[in-house]
Amino acid sequence: MTKDIESAHKPWKAEYAKSSRSSCRACNKPIVKDAFRLAKVQTAHQFNGVMPLWNHASCVFQNENEIKSLEEIDGLEDLRAGDLQNLRKYIEGSLAASDEEINRGKSITPAPTAGGSGDNTGEYEIENAKSSRSICKSCNEKIEKGHVRVATMVDNPRFRGKQPAWRHVECFLKLRWWTSPLAAMAGWDNLSVKDQCEVQDLAKACPGNSCSFQTQ
Ligand SMILES: [Zn+2]
Ligand SMILES: [Zn+2]
Repeated sequence: MTKDIESAHKPWKAEYAKSSRSSCRACNKPIVKDAFRLAKVQTAHQFNGVMPLWNHASCVFQNENEIKSLEEIDGLEDLRAGDLQNLRKYIEGSLAASDEEINRGKSITPAPTAGGSGDNTGEYEIENAKSSRSICKSCNEKIEKGHVRVATMVDNPRFRGKQPAWRHVECFLKLRWWTSPLAAMAGWDNLSVKDQCEVQDLAKACPGNSCSFQTQ
């Protein structure tokens, strides 16, 4: 690389991860392929070039004022409209506010009672993801199409109603919210036998929060 390229680079770069090999500078977790990531582009003096330091976009969004304007970001033209919109909101300072709103909505949702007293089975549903558009509420990663996911119904004040919050089945199991047999969950019968076996195995391998199971 030449000095010219070095001086031309913008301080940030946005893209969808090309592989699952990078890890996030903020949370140290791997950034899975196709996840929306943002790099702080550093000048690397040792080889006269630039070196991107990747972060989950969601991790960058945790800290205010990291990015001052869209002008600082390379790669915007390839982003999906929704992600570009979130970037814009983040820079305007309105993304954090709307996240708080969602969190407040979640906190007033009563936690399902252990032991399955009453009818709490209607609040959960298990299925194979119909698209790759849902984001796991636990790990903030995309849920790949076909991956087994679990919905919990959460209040969303912005829509004045309930909407499903999706999680990877392995992320959901770590929460230990579901205490009945898995086969009693809505949608279970629609899973393939192979998926049912895998989920049963996950449930056995995931006794609690000490579990270190990774999705990738
Ligand atoms: Zn991260
Ligand atoms: Zn997850």
